[in-house]
Amino acid sequence: MSENNLQKNSEVRVESLFVENSPVAELPGIGEGDIIVIRSKRRKKNISAYRQGGKIVVSIPSRLSKADERAVVPEMIAKIRAQEESRTFDESLLATRIHELLTQFAPEVIQRPTSATWRLMHERWGSCTSVDGTIRISTRLQRAPGYVLDYVLFHEGIHLLYGDHGQGFQDLLARFPNGATSQAYLDGYEAAEDLLRPPVLGS
Ligand SMILES: [Zn+2]
Repeated sequence: MSENNLQKNSEVRVESLFVENSPVAELPGIGEGDIIVIRSKRRKKNISAYRQGGKIVVSIPSRLSKADERAVVPEMIAKIRAQEESRTFDESLLATRIHELLTQFAPEVIQRPTSATWRLMHERWGSCTSVDGTIRISTRLQRAPGYVLDYVLFHEGIHLLYGDHGQGFQDLLARFPNGATSQAYLDGYEAAEDLLRPPVLGS
């Protein structure tokens, strides 16, 4: 579908981008430009909010007044934040989950992680230091489907036995039931990140 068609069919346009005077911008954790409000002609009553490329997009009916917009947008943002909060996988469960996955799919791996923690990592999905048994998982996976997180946990768990991605490693990894789908999710995520990443200026 061409970009033109997309515009015509969706009947949406970016109406406003909140800036420093907006009450929304003062909410903790929300900076300028993080929220986009779309006024949709097609939308009659419903208001929806979702994440897109690190921003929160709130879609409202085009006839909603500015005053109503000011009231309703912070509410929707709070809802999204609450949803994300509840979906964030408890860090203390990461090591337990690795144990469960290894027990179920790769009983040959008798090693267990000494620690498994979330880490802000943009270049990798996970990492394992087999000498001390520590595993780190990218915080980008906190919003991923459960099977994708499992796939990465299983991958790093196997590294407790195999340091490389050789045949022994691959044979064990292949036992994960949703491997291809999980890999596709990770590849798609990375491709989208590359597209949405702002160009680096200077330096
Ligand atoms: Zn690896």
